[in-house]
Amino acid sequence: MKVFDGLVIGGGQAGPFLAAKLAARGEHIAVIEKESLGGTCVNRGCTPTKTLRKSARVAYLARRASEFGVEVGPVRVDFKAAMARMHERVETSRTGLTSWIEGISGISLYWGEATIVGRDDEGRFRVAIAGTDEVLITKRVFLNTGTRASVPSIPGIAEAGVMTNVELLQLTELPPRLLILGGSYIGLEMAQIFRRLGSEVQIVEVGERVIAQEDADVSAAILAMLQAEGITFHLGAGVESVARDAGGIVLRLEGGGRVHGSHLLAASGRVPNTAKLGLETIGVAVDDHGWISTNARLETNVPGVFALGDINRRGAFMHTSVHDHEIVAENLAGGSRSADARVMTYALFTDPPLGHVGIHEHEAKELVRAGRRISMAEIQMAQVSRAKEESETLGLMRFWIDDDTDHFLGASLLGINADEIVQSIGLVMASKGTAQIVMEALPVHPTVTEFLPTILARRRPVVA
Ligand SMILES: Cc1cc2nc3c(=O)[nH]c(=O)nc-3n(C[C@H](O)[C@H](O)[C@H](O)COP(=O)(O)OP(=O)(O)OC[C@H]3O[C@@H](n4cnc5c(N)ncnc54)[C@H](O)[C@@H]3O)c2cc1C
Repeated sequence: MKVFDGLVIGGGQAGPFLAAKLAARGEHIAVIEKESLGGTCVNRGCTPTKTLRKSARVAYLARRASEFGVEVGPVRVDFKAAMARMHERVETSRTGLTSWIEGISGISLYWGEATIVGRDDEGRFRVAIAGTDEVLITKRVFLNTGTRASVPSIPGIAEAGVMTNVELLQLTELPPRLLILGGSYIGLEMAQIFRRLGSEVQIVEVGERVIAQEDADVSAAILAMLQAEGITFHLGAGVESVARDAGGIVLRLEGGGRVHGSHLLAASGRVPNTAKLGLETIGVAVDDHGWISTNARLETNVPGVFALGDINRRGAFMHTSVHDHEIVAENLAGGSRSADARVMTYALFTDPPLGHVGIHEHEAKELVRAGRRISMAEIQMAQVSRAKEESETLGLMRFWIDDDTDHFLGASLLGINADEIVQSIGLVMASKGTAQIVMEALPVHPTVTEFLPTILARRRPVVA
């Protein structure tokens, strides 16, 4: 029986960093990971996809080279080399994280699937590790077990063969005709990457538009951009069944249509890795889908048990998971950080990317209907000189401002470097700065951000 000051279950984007902070305070912490430290982001998510995205972008720019006065000849993608570059980046990141954690003296790293098996006589939690006789004892458990792709239960899908992000990123040959179920963030990013690497790509989306959470014109602009690159979309298309024939995979759509491809990717949602954690043995509350509820300090309903990262449904990003560990670490040291206080910021890493912070149009209109005075300022990227100089004029920038406080309420930026630029607004929002301050700041020329004062000067009231 081994007793620890804390147990981290799952080595995603919060747990290892929290363990390191607690160990630095003199605590003895166990980290239990069933597969690879770094979790989804490092091994099957952010790191590999953004590395592969670069290969895709290079191919895209190489095809456009003559527009910039550069002759490169016929462009051929070496898929194996692009994947090898990606695997190397993942390996470097994973091994760097693993050897860092292994080298911290207050951390004991265990490999295997952890399950909470109840409490001991002193009320401490007992955690077993599959495949071993180990039962670890602790008064505090930090859950960071993340999510996995949910494969829709469509008749025939398993028999026909379906990939998730895991299998997609292990391919050794370029899929000639890739079908993607789901036109949301992961589906769109993968569609553009594989299209640019040379696949024919079709997206089948049950909703009437892609990334329906975004403003309608932003979602339409992204759709048009991807269509212009040759990606085919089937919107409002439910899939009745999946089959495999001599030509590959066939999706039978509700209403009669058929879509043919060589490979099928499920990118239609994520489910939390909580079902096998033994949460019921100590009474941790989950919702009907297994997401763990927490308060703003990320404490579950069971004192001593915390839920960090995607499983608490307070974010679905690497950065929200990292932020979670900062909140828990500081609060355990007497702080009063709150997950409710953060302004949601994220990016869709299409090229160009979409950066978003705070509210969307429908929320701005709801606020106006509730009596708030809100204004909106926007500009098309086609009017931004830096974008023209780069010949990358797709997109727009839109800002929502509270007219009474002059505080930013949100922004949607689609265009070059929008994933970086959006953070300037996030920082102004986090530091409670005003639009006036931004208008008076000295911008650098020629950049996209230099247009902020010009855009903000044109703001106009939102009418609900
Ligand atoms: C294709 C794709 C692309 C993405 N791109 C981005 C991006 O660009 N930017 C971004 O911010 N986010 C991105 N994400 C989301 C991001 O990966 C996650 O939000 C991030 O990994 C945070 O997850 P987490 O810390 O909750 O846990 P995870 O990273 O999912 O890690 C959980 C870990 O827990 C382990 N585990 C699970 N159960 C147990 C158990 N019982 N015992 C022991 N170990 C267990 C798992 O093996 C895993 O290692 C992407 C996701 C995908 C799928």
